[in-house]
Amino acid sequence: MEKETVLSATRDLWETVPGNTLSTGKGIRPEYAGTRMYDPPLVGFGAADDPLFDAYKKAGVIGPWHMSPGEWLPGAKTVVSFFFPLSEAVRESNRKEVKTASDLWAYARIEGQEFITSTMNAVGSWFREKGYSACVPSSDPRWQSVFAGKGIEGYEEIGETTYGSRWSERHAAYVCGLGTFGLSKGLITKKGVAGRFGSVVVSALFEPDPRPYSGIYDYCIRCGACAARCPAKAIDLVTGKDHVKCASCVSASRLVHAPRYGCGLCQTGVPCEAGIPDPAFR
Ligand code: SF4
Ligand code: SF4
Repeated sequence: MEKETVLSATRDLWETVPGNTLSTGKGIRPEYAGTRMYDPPLVGFGAADDPLFDAYKKAGVIGPWHMSPGEWLPGAKTVVSFFFPLSEAVRESNRKEVKTASDLWAYARIEGQEFITSTMNAVGSWFREKGYSACVPSSDPRWQSVFAGKGIEGYEEIGETTYGSRWSERHAAYVCGLGTFGLSKGLITKKGVAGRFGSVVVSALFEPDPRPYSGIYDYCIRCGACAARCPAKAIDLVTGKDHVKCASCVSASRLVHAPRYGCGLCQTGVPCEAGIPDPAFR
């Protein structure tokens, strides 16, 4: 199968899977009905046996609870990673905020994630219809998250400051050539950091995309704008990101947005919001 076939199918599914455009109901403010949350995704292809997936299992990288593509799907050949950039409407609304997420951002975090999950499941089904095996880690019953060190039993290495899951979409995207990490720990793609990721592990073989970078932070210019935007002071140019402070701030956003939540102030109003920042602004 040609990559172009996958890209075309992905574009079709992005257009036809329901849920990317807000409608009224579920407490969504009527003025946002008709707003599109996510732009067409970037797509990257990585080898299922890329040595980086083994490296992610090491303590201090992610940890041994992180599952490799072959564990998700026996016979896996390729990881297909997707970055869904947030639309200008969502980003613009969050740019104006200084304490917590905008309503639109919270909708994109919750209803938008439902759309992305549906799209990933549709991509998985599409591969199966073509005769391949496919696994969507985020929809798989084995997917588990780690919150403040809790959520996955049996791993002594999980400290109480650990947040994550058995499959890191951002780390998969890094393997697939989509971008590098920033100080805020988001992944900076050529469409920026403001967006969400998904992935599908498949038995179809594709040539891995090149990674046009060598270091995990190559695209971050260390401007510190994300640190200045963070209401929880969870980002520091010297010490990096404090996930405990961040998680606490995101949880507190429920006071404003329940049943939703969100923040993402470090992803908007910053040089890496919608593209790779120019090193001239370093
Ligand atoms: S705002 Fe600046 S320091 Fe923060 S992740 Fe983006 S480029 Fe890096
Ligand atoms: S680091 Fe967390 S709390 Fe700080 S701006 Fe980013 S999402 Fe919000």
